[in-house]
Amino acid sequence: MRLRAHHLLCLQGFQGYGYNPNFTNNLTKLIQEINSTPQLEIELIDEGDAVCFFCPYHKESLCQKTADSSRKVKDIDLKVLNKLGLSKGARVKQEDIFCFVNKKFRYISDVKDICTDCEWKEKCLWFIKLK
Ligand code: SF4
Repeated sequence: MRLRAHHLLCLQGFQGYGYNPNFTNNLTKLIQEINSTPQLEIELIDEGDAVCFFCPYHKESLCQKTADSSRKVKDIDLKVLNKLGLSKGARVKQEDIFCFVNKKFRYISDVKDICTDCEWKEKCLWFIKLK
């Protein structure tokens, strides 16, 4: 499965909110698939992924939520990869990567410039647990 690096954070905080019912229904199924497959191989990328595929803002293979979101979201993916010490294209196992992410991201300061401008952060169960 191909995932944008920053979605490793978002997926852990999802509680049913999203851009439209199609998006949230598919995201719910995707998370169930990920959670029930410990051996799942995940390729970490900085472009449209399995989550974006159902997003109404994903057009012509780019995030077009705002005029500059494609660049901004790529930048966020690269910041997450950098914090994890991984490179774009790294392949990881589900059973390893989420624990590793949560060791590296423990405090609000760890997500400075990553979650700062996210419209969902107050509803993100992962974000609100950070100290
Ligand atoms: S807003 Fe952009 S990065 Fe987020 S899911 Fe939609 S297309 Fe992907």
